[in-house]
Amino acid sequence: MLAPWLEQLQQQFNHTFQQGRLHHAIMLHGLKGTGKSLLASSLSAGLLCDMPSSLVACGTCKSCLLVKAGNHPDRLDIGEANSSIGVDQIRELGEFIYHSAQQGGNKVVVIRFADTMTSSAANALLKTLEEPNVNRYLILCCDDVSRLPATIASRCFKQLVVAEQSANWLCNQLNTHEIEPWQALFLQQPFLVLDWQEEEIESNIKTLYDCANSDVTAWQLSELNSMLAKRTELVDTFCLFLTQRIKQAALAGAPYERISEQLNSVTLFVKKTKTLAGTNMLLSLAMLQQSLRQLS
Ligand SMILES: [Zn+2]
Repeated sequence: MLAPWLEQLQQQFNHTFQQGRLHHAIMLHGLKGTGKSLLASSLSAGLLCDMPSSLVACGTCKSCLLVKAGNHPDRLDIGEANSSIGVDQIRELGEFIYHSAQQGGNKVVVIRFADTMTSSAANALLKTLEEPNVNRYLILCCDDVSRLPATIASRCFKQLVVAEQSANWLCNQLNTHEIEPWQALFLQQPFLVLDWQEEEIESNIKTLYDCANSDVTAWQLSELNSMLAKRTELVDTFCLFLTQRIKQAALAGAPYERISEQLNSVTLFVKKTKTLAGTNMLLSLAMLQQSLRQLS
């Protein structure tokens, strides 16, 4: 069962499909954690299903069983987290598209993290996009469509995926009646919260939230340091919490100069920790803490 906002998009695509107007290259884009790759999987299952009248997979035919087992010969998956997509993978895609379907139906390529394509990979993909083949579909997923060459994006049907009214759904998934304040900041990215739960790092995120919203003790500072040094992707999350706190201070009437100065110090912190190799995280955190102290 798809999340409601994904279900709605699936129905829209199904409608287009039944009218015979489904584009051969679909680009699902939107914030991380909105469920784009789940929708891509669902659409590809629909395209591969032996019941050709609908884009909603039956779940029981031979193709559906192969999809469920993760080894349908006419589906190719490209792209993974924390690595870029190179030209060799796109050449493999070209080969895959070229050969006839083993199950006699459609062939589908799902490209996740499409915005990590190297420029030579993007050039190679352009050729495939310019010469669409019958019964061949590409579904691309990316967080930031602006990081892709315009030549690629303009040849796809672009669909923005937004997690709308996800509060109730997220409560159900988390098996709770009320979400916590830090979780409420991620209603636009509910799958991020679920991923953290699965990875059992919720308590870390909670610590980040607490640290962002109070004066940090020396002990917390060192805990924060080791957590962020280990998982630099959490720097963004920490900064989102900080920005939220600064916004609240602004709403409460804090002077503009101070707010602006503090936002700058958060930006500087992100820049230092993400782009400067060998940055002393503990020192940067202490400086950040110093400049935010006036907030409380
Ligand atoms: Zn089926």
